[in-house]
Amino acid sequence: MRESISLVEETRRERVGRSFPFMSMEERRRILEEWHPDYKPGTKRPLMIGPSRGMIVPHEVADILEAHPLIDPDEIDVTDLEYDVDVLVIGAGGAGLSAALTAQESGIDREGILMVQKLRLGDSNSKMSQGGIQAAVGPDDSPALHFLDIMGGGLFANKPELVEILAKEGPDVIRWHESLGVIYDKNPDGTMKLISGGGTCRNRMHTCKDYTGLEIIRVLLDEFLNREIPYLEFTCAVELLTDDKGEVVGAVLWDMDSDEYRVVRAKSTILATGGFGRLHIQGFETTNHYGATGDGIVLAYHVGAVLRDLDATQYHPTGAAYPEQLVGQLCTEALRGRGAQPVNRLGELFVHPLETRDAESAAIIRECYGRDLGVTTPTGMRGVWLDTPLIDILHGPGTIEREFHAMYRMFGRFNIDIRKEPILVFPTLHYMNGGVEINPMAETSIPGLFAAGEVCGGVHGKNRLMGNSQLDLYVFGRRAGRYAAERARKVQAGRPTLNHVERYERWLEEAGIKTSRKAPLLLPEYRGKKTLEHIIKLL
Ligand SMILES: Cc1cc2nc3c(=O)[nH]c(=O)nc-3n(C[C@H](O)[C@H](O)[C@H](O)COP(=O)(O)OP(=O)(O)OC[C@H]3O[C@@H](n4cnc5c(N)ncnc54)[C@H](O)[C@@H]3O)c2cc1C
Repeated sequence: MRESISLVEETRRERVGRSFPFMSMEERRRILEEWHPDYKPGTKRPLMIGPSRGMIVPHEVADILEAHPLIDPDEIDVTDLEYDVDVLVIGAGGAGLSAALTAQESGIDREGILMVQKLRLGDSNSKMSQGGIQAAVGPDDSPALHFLDIMGGGLFANKPELVEILAKEGPDVIRWHESLGVIYDKNPDGTMKLISGGGTCRNRMHTCKDYTGLEIIRVLLDEFLNREIPYLEFTCAVELLTDDKGEVVGAVLWDMDSDEYRVVRAKSTILATGGFGRLHIQGFETTNHYGATGDGIVLAYHVGAVLRDLDATQYHPTGAAYPEQLVGQLCTEALRGRGAQPVNRLGELFVHPLETRDAESAAIIRECYGRDLGVTTPTGMRGVWLDTPLIDILHGPGTIEREFHAMYRMFGRFNIDIRKEPILVFPTLHYMNGGVEINPMAETSIPGLFAAGEVCGGVHGKNRLMGNSQLDLYVFGRRAGRYAAERARKVQAGRPTLNHVERYERWLEEAGIKTSRKAPLLLPEYRGKKTLEHIIKLL
């Protein structure tokens, strides 16, 4: 590895200010087909049951959707209500928090809201987000340009009506954050500092150094706690409840501390459970937090909600590949936005640093496994270099420490000084592009069930661009809160049943699916030899 670092150092000066050309549409199509994990034959299968039957999904996703529900309806008396609320929010990341706050602002008494979270309050992908949040506020920018970037990035598979809302409401989300106390990075003249991200035509990324998610969640959590909205920690939603019309009327919770079930009836239920990184699709490492096991798509599918775009998974191009303790952790895209270049073992450029994530990932995989120009670590991981010292060369000494303090500290703990040395990176499982289909009111196809954030599909099509998920959480989280509150003011909650669980068992039986698997998973399984190896089934 040292020898290769010397080559990177030797070529660095000559690379300053130089770039690799962007791919043409044809090159992009070819590299995706040949090298992106989504295109690998034999890694997916069509769903055999439910309203999205026939949709092609990774085996790992089909496995949890074609599993038995966790609970047996005969063992739980769902008429024995422990909570009876207007709005139940499942998940306490950015989407859940903004939904709960907005439900209260929309006239629901705080006692009429309950938020449940399977880990500690704040444990979420939202808090780990680093690079930033997009919104078209610059003088040369507009929601129309933002719209076009999102659609192009998503391979035009997005629902345009959702994208329009996302782009138009972006600036308002930033104003809302600032009004609550989020401190965004500013230029010396007080204007918003905006940086670039992959696949965008304008600089529109708002940052709080590389702690953006931490800062936003710090502020939202403070607000949530100050308003004294009730919540439960270490409590998982294990099944939704439906009434005799098939509408969602709450959930069955499992208290992990006391090992007891709790029944919540709700007039509106909001799913904000995030993504599925911990399914480790095709053996990839992940950036995601421990609770990202795709529970929301399972819960929604059990009640018959339509899913979409789950054939497309996002691999972030730059996960750490060394040292071993950091493997899979995110190296924010903003590093490339500020000038860090991906280079191969010989110190050569091989891809533009700001291609869309799918194309950038495919190029790195090809460099390592197709052209054999990657670097192999002592534990057998392969990767390419991300030449971070360029950032200080381009923008002046101190830039890395000032703008990428989280990255600087993360690698510094292992005596790697990213101001002086490149870091080794390889794609890592990052984001669930698809999920539960919603409409502009954040309603799913089942009345009473709303969804927001990463659990949803439709906003980002087949490939999310950087910074747009953070925006999505707050645009659709707030919409979910508002429209869930509106519904709660109008309806009476029906009598809770688990009829849909019995129907799901019938679907499994009719499709001839024989399995001992149960879902939602709730927590990932990390026992056994298989999980101790870096098995990348891609290759
Ligand atoms: C390391 C990292 C960096 C990122 N950086 C960026 C970035 O810079 N810009 C950007 O736009 N996006 C970024 N993303 C993506 C973005 O942060 C996530 O997509 C987003 O935060 C998801 O928010 P969410 O509220 O939908 O889910 P989460 O924030 O993951 O919250 C889901 C919550 O639901 C809870 N939950 C799950 N299942 C259950 C259950 N059964 N019962 C009860 N609770 C449950 C979880 O514990 C969690 O608290 C990043 C992601 C990661 C992992």
